Amino acid sequence: MRVKCEICKKPIVTTKGLKKDICIMCAKAEIEKATVRKFYLSIIPDIIAVARKSGYAIGVHGSLTRDLDLIGAPWIKRCVKPIELVKRIAKALDGFYNPNGTVRPHGRISYLIYFKIRENIPPHAYIDLSIYQKEKI
Ligand SMILES: [Zn+2]
Repeated sequence: MRVKCEICKKPIVTTKGLKKDICIMCAKAEIEKATVRKFYLSIIPDIIAVARKSGYAIGVHGSLTRDLDLIGAPWIKRCVKPIELVKRIAKALDGFYNPNGTVRPHGRISYLIYFKIRENIPPHAYIDLSIYQKEKI
């Protein structure tokens, strides 16, 4: 039976019994996305634990399919500086980070955290951690 791939719309030949009519390239991409998502979900509890000890709350933002978009919000009066939070999270994940954050709207600073190349870590995985700064009163 000739149909179109549900994702990229290219014509494909399909066999009955498949849940979705998708081409082999889209099927591979879907598997990769699922693998990356599973990896991100596995590391979130550790990130939250480190952040809590540092005086921050963590919010998860985005689809978890490309990068892991996180929001760091200062939660208690005595919290560490944003860069110290980044350093602690990178250390806990045995990763590394770019110390030059990018200033985003409303004063949040976005830091990228990377992983060392490992068998169980998807190759393009990284964290984009946007941290709000302590209130200046
Ligand atoms: Zn396709």
